[in-house]
Amino acid sequence: MTESLDTVLRDLRACRICRDAPLYLPPLPHEPRPVIQASATARLCIAGQAPGTRVHASGQPFTDPSGVRLRNWLGLDETVFYDAAKVAIVPMGHCFPGLDAKGGDKPPRRECAPTWRARVFEALPAIELVLAIGRYAQAWHLGSSQGANLSETVTNWRAILARPGRPRILPLPHPSWRNNTWLKRNPWFDEDLVPVLRQEVARLIA
Ligand code: SF4
Repeated sequence: MTESLDTVLRDLRACRICRDAPLYLPPLPHEPRPVIQASATARLCIAGQAPGTRVHASGQPFTDPSGVRLRNWLGLDETVFYDAAKVAIVPMGHCFPGLDAKGGDKPPRRECAPTWRARVFEALPAIELVLAIGRYAQAWHLGSSQGANLSETVTNWRAILARPGRPRILPLPHPSWRNNTWLKRNPWFDEDLVPVLRQEVARLIA
């Protein structure tokens, strides 16, 4: 029998694996604060990477400059973006993973996706489109059919989106400023992909 989303969210929000019983060292260096937005009616899912420092502080996904750019790509204001009935936001790692030696965000905790992702998606039956943001989400949702790198995968977006099966997958780069150079070098992203993305999003939240 499929678990209710309420049960999954209750268990996920209480998760302390990376702090108390990590499978990979070192343990999470701070108290876990799992971030997720979901409801059983959402048709659109944003599969991001992991919370950064600002999102860890707010407890709400994409409350940072990346969120501003992502909402612009999607053509959504904050009211709709944060409407769980319409938009699910399910990162590859639900807790802020900490900073690396250079001050950048560490990758999503490796414990998280294998522990939670299947349970969460089982409880999200209405999802029709997953926006796979960044290489961790693309590796999970596309598996061996992802490209050799993020650029190759995103460049192949039309073929990936056209695949049969549900949910459909649309690969995107992370909206972080770290990808400004990539976005400048790939103007087709804004010119070709973003208009299609906005059409899809508008249809799914209608
Ligand atoms: S990152 Fe995921 S697995 Fe680790 S404590 Fe947070 S919710 Fe649990």
